[in-house]
Amino acid sequence: MSSGRDPAPAIDEGPTEKCGVVGLSLSERDAALPAYYALYALQHRGQESAGIVTHDGFQQHQHIAMGLVGDAFDEGDIEGLAGPTGIGHVRYPTAGSIDESNAQPFTVSFKGGSLALSHNGNLVNAGEIRDELGDIGHAFTSDGDTEVIAHDLARNLLEADLVRAVKRTMDRIHGSYALTIMHGDTVLGLRDPEGNRPLVIGELEDGYILASESAAIDTLGGSVVRDVNPGELVVLDENGDGFDAYQLVERDRHAHCFFEYVYFARPDSVIDDTLVYEVRRDLGRKLWEESGVDTDVVMPVPDSGRAFASGYAEAAEGVEFAEGLMKNRYVGRTFIMPTQEARERAVRLKLNPIRSTVEGRTVTIIDDSIVRGTTSRQLVSLVREAGAEEVHVRIGAPPITAPCYMGINMATREELIAAEQDADDIAEIIDADSLAYLSNEAVAEAIGTDRSNLCMGCVTGEYPYDIDDEGTDREVNRPVIGDGGL
Ligand code: SF4
Repeated sequence: MSSGRDPAPAIDEGPTEKCGVVGLSLSERDAALPAYYALYALQHRGQESAGIVTHDGFQQHQHIAMGLVGDAFDEGDIEGLAGPTGIGHVRYPTAGSIDESNAQPFTVSFKGGSLALSHNGNLVNAGEIRDELGDIGHAFTSDGDTEVIAHDLARNLLEADLVRAVKRTMDRIHGSYALTIMHGDTVLGLRDPEGNRPLVIGELEDGYILASESAAIDTLGGSVVRDVNPGELVVLDENGDGFDAYQLVERDRHAHCFFEYVYFARPDSVIDDTLVYEVRRDLGRKLWEESGVDTDVVMPVPDSGRAFASGYAEAAEGVEFAEGLMKNRYVGRTFIMPTQEARERAVRLKLNPIRSTVEGRTVTIIDDSIVRGTTSRQLVSLVREAGAEEVHVRIGAPPITAPCYMGINMATREELIAAEQDADDIAEIIDADSLAYLSNEAVAEAIGTDRSNLCMGCVTGEYPYDIDDEGTDREVNRPVIGDGGL
C-alpha cells in the first residue's frame, strides 16, 4: 500500500518491499497468536508497523502499533485479540512516513458491518477513485490507497453479495494488490489479475491461512495448499473447515514481480510453485555463463548475495567460494543516516572484509542489485583496502533503470545509477575492475516462466499498467533508500 507521503532517506540503498499480509480462519483457537508468528515470518517485508485485527463472531478487536512485530505486541495485546478469525499486516520502513494513520490492517465500520483490510501493493488509479467517492460523501482518514479499496468495497457490499461486491471493486481498482480482508468474521484473500504480488493458501492443523509467502505457513507447521491465482478471490470458511475460490478476472498474461524472486521474498519461500532459493542459485549459474571472469575467490555480499554466489561458484567449477565479508548482525535493518558521510560509514558498521581471504587475490563480489551505487563503491573500496589485487562485481539481476509504481520503493530515476550509465561507466564509478549484470532473458529462464508473464518495469521501463493514462501520481513512489542487501 502506498501512503503518498514523502519518505525520508533511511539507509544504504536497495528497493524496499512495502508490506506482508496474513489472514487466518481457525476452528479450535484464537487466530491472534498464529497471526503474530506468521507476521514474524514476514518481518522482512515491512518493519515500520505491525497490526492484527480479529473477530470473535460478535465484534472486531484490533492492535496496530509502530515498530517491529516483536516490539508492537506484548502478551496482553495478543490475549486481548479474541476470536478464531483474523488478518494481519507488516508495513515497510521509512523514516519520513512514520504515521499511524497509514498502519494496517485498515478498518472501517459501515451500515453493512465491519471491514478490515491488509494490502501489499499499490493502486495506480487510487486518486481517481478517491475523488469520485469524495464527491458522493465518503470521508477519508488517511492518504493511503488501502482506504480507497475499503470505501469502494463497503459501498459495493451495500448493494451486492460478497462475491459480486468484490468483483465490482476489482473492476474499479487498477494496480497491484495482494489483499487479506475480513468482513464480519469472514476472511478473504484477493490477488490482482496480473498476480503482481504473491499470495498463498496454507492448511493448518485446525484451519486455513492466507499469507504473502509460504515461509509464514511453514513457521506455523502448516502445509502449502496452492497459490491464490491472479484475479482470484478465496473465501475461508468461518469454522476453519476449508475455503471457496472464485476466479473473478482472468488474463491471458500475468505480471509477476521478478524482484520478488531476486530480492524481496525469503529464499525459503515458494512463490507460484517455484522455490526462491533455487531461482537465486540458478541466476548465479547464469551470471557465470553470461559474464564469468577468471578469479581466485567468489564472495557474496551477505546475506542477499549468498545464493547467487553459490550458484556462480558452482558453475565456475573449481573456483573457491568464501565468505570474505563478515556482517555485523546487531546493526538493525534500518537506521537513520541523515548525511552522506553517515551513509558511507554504514557500510563499515555492517561489513568487515576478511583480509586473508582477499589479500593479493583476484576477487569477484556477487550481489543481487545496485540501486544508487554508493554501497557498491564502499564495498569495493573495503575489499581493496584489505589487499585485493583485482575486484570484479557481478549482479544477479539486470540494471535498475526506472522506478516502480507497483508498491516497491526504489530510488528516483535521477538517483538510479544505471538510468543513464552503462556497466562500464558504473564499474569506473565504483572503482571495480569490471562489472556485469544479468540479462532479462536469463531472469525469465531462471524463474521458469515466459518473459511476457513477468513485470520487469524497473529494468525495462515498460509497466503492466498504462501509468499515465491511469492518472497515477508519479510522486507516489518517491524514494526510500532501503536495505541495500546488507
Ligand atoms: S517495477 Fe520492478 S519492483 Fe516494481 S513490480 Fe515490476 S518488477 Fe517488481
